[in-house]
Amino acid sequence: RRVLLEEPIMKKQNTMTRVPGGVRGKRKRIVVTGGAGFVGSHLVDRLIERGDSVIVVDNMFTGRKDNLLHHLGNPNFELIRHDVVEPILLEVDQIYHLACPASPTNVMGTLNMLGLAKRVGARFLLTSTSEVYGDPLQHPQAETYWGHVNPIGVRSCYDEGKRTAETLAMDYHRGAGIEVRIARIFNTYGPRMCLDDGRVVSNFVAQALRKEPLTVYGDGKQTRSFQYVSDLVEGLMRLMEGEHIGPFNLGNPGEFTMLELAQVVQETIDPNAKIEFRSNTEDDPHKRKPDISKAKELLGWQPTVSLREGLPLMVADFRQRIFGESKGNGV
Ligand code: NAD
Ligand code: UDP
Ligand code: UDP
Repeated sequence: RRVLLEEPIMKKQNTMTRVPGGVRGKRKRIVVTGGAGFVGSHLVDRLIERGDSVIVVDNMFTGRKDNLLHHLGNPNFELIRHDVVEPILLEVDQIYHLACPASPTNVMGTLNMLGLAKRVGARFLLTSTSEVYGDPLQHPQAETYWGHVNPIGVRSCYDEGKRTAETLAMDYHRGAGIEVRIARIFNTYGPRMCLDDGRVVSNFVAQALRKEPLTVYGDGKQTRSFQYVSDLVEGLMRLMEGEHIGPFNLGNPGEFTMLELAQVVQETIDPNAKIEFRSNTEDDPHKRKPDISKAKELLGWQPTVSLREGLPLMVADFRQRIFGESKGNGV
């Protein structure tokens, strides 16, 4: 496999520009896998703003070039269309590994990015998920909780994939001395979120804007904690730059039932929006809320944007994308 793939990849590497100062230079060379996606593109904005040199590796599976249009032409920015399931050779200082639609990518993509980190001595950050806690028996969830995941359930492909990715990261850390960082991200929303990926915040906002009923699954009493994307990106950058491996929960402890969320969406967009109940998926976690004491203490981080403050910013972006009122990149 490797022999077959090495040749074209080597060619790509040879054409890469080297950053003055090299590895130890001031400007960092940073790879963001999944950088054309929702979280990744906001992270890229911050890294470029800080003066770093950023390479996005994305296969555009759920990502959009639109999210990065404002960086094209910047000499400190490069977009590579590549599936991280295939090996890739790059020279970088840090790897933010966000690419991931499903389990096979979690495992193979993470393995390749860890292999890359090992070869070049880069620091590696994994964006894991609160889903590693499954349908939790501990509330709120602290990082010490090992989770309650059904290994053969409909959601387990994602959950177990991320659990395996965490295991691989820790094994590369212990076995090969790689500097790793692990973030467990709780439900995050904001501008540039996929319009149609079925997540509850994007569904409700799009439905309210389109004058469709808000689809509440089950009895709507299950809870989630919703984090605004800029808070998450701040946490990811602090984690990458800091000295602690983690895992760290990155989420907003404000907890809402889905009915309460529907109400906030009604207040923000359309008080007359109707609610329609639908059957829920199997194994849907009943409760989820992060214990963020560890991130507060060791990263000096906590969220600053409440749901009621963040939601209107997302609504403005969705309005533009749904009704095409003007071209925007959801900044
Ligand atoms: P997203 O779908 O917007 O972004 C993922 C990006 O990865 C997309 O641009 C996609 O094209 C790219 N990608 C997918 N498979 C790839 C592959 N094989 N090779 C290269 N690129 C590939 O999702 P997001 O919400 O921005 O999530 C980013 C990361 O954060 C993911 O790892 C996700 O599991 C994690 N996370 C997100 C949330 C959330 O609420 N948004 C919660 C927990 C964890
Ligand atoms: N890998 C990669 N880029 C690199 C170095 C490695 O994509 O710069 C891939 C490599 O092809 C392998 C994986 O990362 O599939 C794990 O690499 P490692 O060297 O740890 O394992 P090995 O190849 O020794 O099994
Ligand atoms: N949900 C809902 N209506 C929707 C989409 C989702 O009520 O249109 C519920 C879903 O059943 C779950 C919660 O909202 O209980 C969060 O779902 P999402 O897919 O956004 O995130 P996750 O389940 O991964 O936390």
